[in-house]
Amino acid sequence: MPEGDTIWLAAKRMHDALAGRVLVQTDFRVPQLATTDLTGQTVTEVVSRGKHLLTRTDAGLTVHSHFRMDGTWHLYRVGSHWSGGPAWQVRAVLANAEWQAVGYRLPVLEVIRTDAEDDVVGHLGPDLLGPDWDAEEALRRIAADPARPLGLALLDQRNLAGVGNVYANELSFLARVPPWRPVGEVPRLEKVVDTAHRLLTLNRLRTGHVTTGDTRADRRNWVYGRARQPCRRCGTRIQTSSLGTPPQDRVVYWCPACQPEQ
Ligand SMILES: [Zn+2]
Repeated sequence: MPEGDTIWLAAKRMHDALAGRVLVQTDFRVPQLATTDLTGQTVTEVVSRGKHLLTRTDAGLTVHSHFRMDGTWHLYRVGSHWSGGPAWQVRAVLANAEWQAVGYRLPVLEVIRTDAEDDVVGHLGPDLLGPDWDAEEALRRIAADPARPLGLALLDQRNLAGVGNVYANELSFLARVPPWRPVGEVPRLEKVVDTAHRLLTLNRLRTGHVTTGDTRADRRNWVYGRARQPCRRCGTRIQTSSLGTPPQDRVVYWCPACQPEQ
């Protein structure tokens, strides 16, 4: 599952390539969109809402896509080689005279009316990278279920939109609590929310979800993906387990010294 900053950057790149330009070819390779053709429409903007990508046209339509586990959009100059995967994984093509946006493996792909976008993104909590980010509302939603583990509350897009599993683990480390600590027992919960906003904002123009301040490939995170390696703060071995009930369970990483049980 991608992080919100990944989707924000994808939207920005798509916006730069498509917005203000007429679509000269569209191709939807999913049965329910087999007859949909947006050729001749102008893309007005591409925006992210949490982990949802919304590509809007001047006909009042929105191409709604969600990446889930490994969906993605690639941009190619017209005439260049497509390299995002085998052809059968292509779900959509949106092309103007210069650029082709190719959607691979998108598990959610639909064309809806722009004025009905709330049907697909209206349930989301405040968007960490949205123009209307509201820290108080996000905090209110998280705190409304004080028994919920912090790691799962942060991942719930109805609380705040944009946190994936990398940030959920890293934010728990930075708060010095294990990811299963009930939110009602997390000191200074408002600081966790502010840190989430700060980290996604800092990282939105680059890849890597840097939480340590060090952008080198093997130094970017405190605990995520670092099972059995020494904690960067204290040297204790990082531990890993899972949190939540299948199939919604998520892998967690923590330092037992920096994030004590109590
Ligand atoms: Zn430690």
